[in-house]
Amino acid sequence: MDLGMRSRTGRRAFLPALAAIITWLAPAAFSATLLVTNPEPAVCVTSEDAVFEYTWGTLRPQTGLFSFSPPGLPALAPVVHAPRSAGPGDLVRVLVTEDEELDSLSAQILDSRQHVMFQGVGFRPESASPGHWVVLVGISSEIPKGEYSLRVTAQAGARSVMFLSPVSVVERLFRFERIPLNTDLTTLRTEKDPRKTAEAKEMARVLTTPHADAIFEEGTILVPLAGARRTSGYGDRRKYVYADNSADYSVHEGLDIASPAGTPVPACGRGKVVLAGSRIMTGNTVIIEHLPGLFSIYFHLSEITVRPGDVVAEGDIIGKVGMTGLATGPHLHWEIQALGVPIDPVALASGPILDRDADFGDIGTAKDPKGGE
Ligand SMILES: [Zn+2]
Repeated sequence: MDLGMRSRTGRRAFLPALAAIITWLAPAAFSATLLVTNPEPAVCVTSEDAVFEYTWGTLRPQTGLFSFSPPGLPALAPVVHAPRSAGPGDLVRVLVTEDEELDSLSAQILDSRQHVMFQGVGFRPESASPGHWVVLVGISSEIPKGEYSLRVTAQAGARSVMFLSPVSVVERLFRFERIPLNTDLTTLRTEKDPRKTAEAKEMARVLTTPHADAIFEEGTILVPLAGARRTSGYGDRRKYVYADNSADYSVHEGLDIASPAGTPVPACGRGKVVLAGSRIMTGNTVIIEHLPGLFSIYFHLSEITVRPGDVVAEGDIIGKVGMTGLATGPHLHWEIQALGVPIDPVALASGPILDRDADFGDIGTAKDPKGGE
């Protein structure tokens, strides 16, 4: 699992005096740079490995854990586990233990200019003991390899925490495929239609709206129709060749599974149906939320047998294979998105979404008073 990096707040809080002075002198610069809203004077406690710059009244954390609290309140001292490297299509799991109640927790992957590329919101897994939190962040198949950073922020009342660590994104190669479209499908894909725009907007809204209480599936999801032939994979680079021989390029964000029309389609895991209906491009469509912000998506169904609000178990039938929408033959398009970012569904199905033994067991080790790595 993703357990490369650990950080503990050190017992020696070597920064409080400095941070308090910084805050008194330049509260605006302080809070703006740190992206934490803390107008009161703060004490800053950092992890022993923390690296930061202080110039002209501005503190710039670079790596490590920075915990801010008003004088007199004990600083939050979370333990953060996060990977040091990731690949295109990965679901990055960030694990946080903090004994105190948190008001908010989130994580972001930042590029070298500190722009947010991908993000996730924290939730408490059902299986975890109190004080255990998880944030899931999806990495798109289109991310260039290189150096990025992970930023985790948490807040509890007037206290806040920022954790920063470098993340290397490795290279991954994807397949290329050429798809000729007949006149009807060319029209379907290229014709401007305000309904298409409205449907795209609505789907984007659904896929970027996490529900904090959507704690349904932490185990291993199944690949629907696993025995059937897969005709397109996650991240395939596609060239659509139109009826007039012009072309367009796109990335295929899910898995295409060829199957006879009418084959029952099972839900890949336990979850709540958040969208079930007909769309122009994707035909009869079902979307299920499994964890806050983690969705499975099913396209081109001939028939839908669930309704929004239904809670389904893994394997429950949600519809039937068809070729509604933009499809050249009967197949299921199955896709997983993490807060609007398509991730590799087959990789996700290769093990539990949250591996309690691997993840939370190891957090215990990190809390060892000797702090062994
Ligand atoms: Zn597809």
